[in-house]
Amino acid sequence: MEHGEDCCVKVAVHARPLIGDEKLQGCKDCVTVVPGKPQVQIGTHSFTFDHVYGSSGTPSTAMFDECVAPLVEGLFQGYNATVLAYGQTGSGKTYTMGTACKEGTHVGIIPRAMAALFDKIEKLKNQVDFQLRVSFIEILKEEVRDLLDPATVTAGKVENGNGHTGKLSVPGKPPVQIREGSNGVITLSGSTEVHVTTQKEMTTCLEQGSLSRATGSTNMNNQSSRSHAIFTITLEQMRKADPIMASDGMPIEEMNDDYLCAKLHLVDLAGSERAKRTGSDGLRFKEGVHINRGLLALGNVISALGDEKKRKEGAHVPYRDSKLTRLLQDSLGGNSKTVMIACISPADINAEETLNTLKYANRAR
Ligand code: ADP
Ligand code: MG
Repeated sequence: MEHGEDCCVKVAVHARPLIGDEKLQGCKDCVTVVPGKPQVQIGTHSFTFDHVYGSSGTPSTAMFDECVAPLVEGLFQGYNATVLAYGQTGSGKTYTMGTACKEGTHVGIIPRAMAALFDKIEKLKNQVDFQLRVSFIEILKEEVRDLLDPATVTAGKVENGNGHTGKLSVPGKPPVQIREGSNGVITLSGSTEVHVTTQKEMTTCLEQGSLSRATGSTNMNNQSSRSHAIFTITLEQMRKADPIMASDGMPIEEMNDDYLCAKLHLVDLAGSERAKRTGSDGLRFKEGVHINRGLLALGNVISALGDEKKRKEGAHVPYRDSKLTRLLQDSLGGNSKTVMIACISPADINAEETLNTLKYANRAR
């Protein structure tokens, strides 16, 4: 199917190389990236996306330039944007996003987006006043948790110490809530927004939030994450008075017209593997069900957005089906730009999940 340039959702695939564990197990590479084409093959299946990045070359630079740089540019024109990393646990979501941002490791999308943002701000700062805010939350079991709240971090430690896995509550603090304003703007109430002026400050927020992100152990990977982590950068711009006009001493009153506000959501989604494969039961299984609710709703929303015919007919987009899609509502579809990066392992033992991921991503086109 041809894909219009103006389509609001772009889909890329990132196939990582075989990693240590897989090599030790003697896994074979069962994924082929067709050279020179945005096409990926597994078994008898072949899929075409907007972009496909294999393990050779310098994929992360190309991926940033082609998929994410236009979204950062768009922020300066006032367009909201969302980057989503989808895939099974261990497929490379966190690596691709750079959410964990450990020192000395490769540079993922988030650090690159920060660098591009501050570069552009540096170039424009004589004409425009900028305000930057960041928030970092996670959605676990359909509950929103503030990763930048020091009280939450403390509570998390207490919780782990007691072995509790129940609802996380900080005394006297209302839970984080997703609100929709009359103008359709989605806001979070009760979550920390940090004002930052430098890239260093922004990086510190990313690091602090990553530290307090919940992780749990499953059969797949004991560092696997069952939550969606959403790092959001909000850019406010106020055009300064034209220096030439201002030098004649006349005050310029209409500058409020030149106010723009836009946000960029950088989302490291929960692992897409099915609950049955985690080998868990009881509570963990319930978490799996909740995670699937977010991913299921996201798939339905993106699929509805990608279907131009349905869109023109004003079809219902089911944003309200999960916290994840509710939160991203004003940054998915409409004038906003969205990129989904489907992360896949090339190992034959993961073939079934890889195929599921490619099918999910294909539905988004
Ligand atoms: P996820 O967040 O999807 O669970 P990770 O990002 O943690 O997966 O990646 C799993 C492992 O694979 C990590 O050890 C990571 O360093 C490695 N990895 C992921 N993507 C790549 C890549 N493109 N190149 C090399 N190693 C990678
Ligand atoms: Mg991860």
